[in-house]
Amino acid sequence: MSGYIGRFAPSPTGPLHAGSMVAALASWLDAKAHQGTWIVRIEDLDQDRCVKGIDQFILQQLTKCQLLSTEPVQWQSKRVRGYESAFETLNELNLIYPCHCTRAKILSELLGNGGQLTRNQSKIYPGTCRSLEFKDHEDLHIQGAAWRFKVTPGPLVWEDRRLGIQHQDVSAEVGDFIIKRSDCVWAYQLSVVVDDAQSKITHIVRGADLVDNTARQIQLQKALGYPVPKYLHTQLLLGPNGEKLSKQNGAAPANTSHPLECLNTAAQTLGLQMQSSSVSEALAFWSEQWLERYP
Ligand code: GLU
Repeated sequence: MSGYIGRFAPSPTGPLHAGSMVAALASWLDAKAHQGTWIVRIEDLDQDRCVKGIDQFILQQLTKCQLLSTEPVQWQSKRVRGYESAFETLNELNLIYPCHCTRAKILSELLGNGGQLTRNQSKIYPGTCRSLEFKDHEDLHIQGAAWRFKVTPGPLVWEDRRLGIQHQDVSAEVGDFIIKRSDCVWAYQLSVVVDDAQSKITHIVRGADLVDNTARQIQLQKALGYPVPKYLHTQLLLGPNGEKLSKQNGAAPANTSHPLECLNTAAQTLGLQMQSSSVSEALAFWSEQWLERYP
């Protein structure tokens, strides 16, 4: 075993579809190519969006494709202590604050500056609650509040193994983002960073739809003193309308009764030139392209 530890982190909001199989296969291939560990983590914190029993269905889909977690499967719902402790650390560092802003309030604040907003601009948090003072956790204002992370201004530069150098000014493009929701659910940005650090993940391989989250996650990793893993964001499998496949737009479950076909579609999306549909061929192609001699 090398020091490589990777992971696949599906949300159990529906079965894996052909697009999620791409991320599953890529992260598995990268771990195998580096003779590393591959952990499956079920991201089930948002209970309202999770579908009962789908976690087991996802694990069956992976098993049928022989994509097997090297370590015991993790469920985020059983790991909240880690998020609480990271929250306490950020609070001690004065890097988070409670916020009661509704979406409507944020929009009116942004529009107050005049003019029209693009879709991306309308998602930026203008920092309204950042300067409000709260005495302690018992303060009435804190009840029912969301908690936001104070982002560092200026461009953050990081390198994606496939996409190359990436830049994002989180402060200008996103603003202070939520790490704990007002309904007390731990937000994806915090939970993913804490779990990756606790599991000592060295390499994150996931779909390019998540690339925009990476600068936020690196800011949190730095604030919490965690190492920054290496990132590779894969190609996305697009539907007939050119849109990314997703559970929201009704993508069909991956048909894992035909595992080789399923893996072959995923391998093609990853640009692996397969002659026959075999996992060992996919692994050989992946290694040729992505094996790092000194990961
Ligand atoms: N749970 C996320 C999803 O299903 C993936 C998180 C990640 O890989 O960072 O989209």
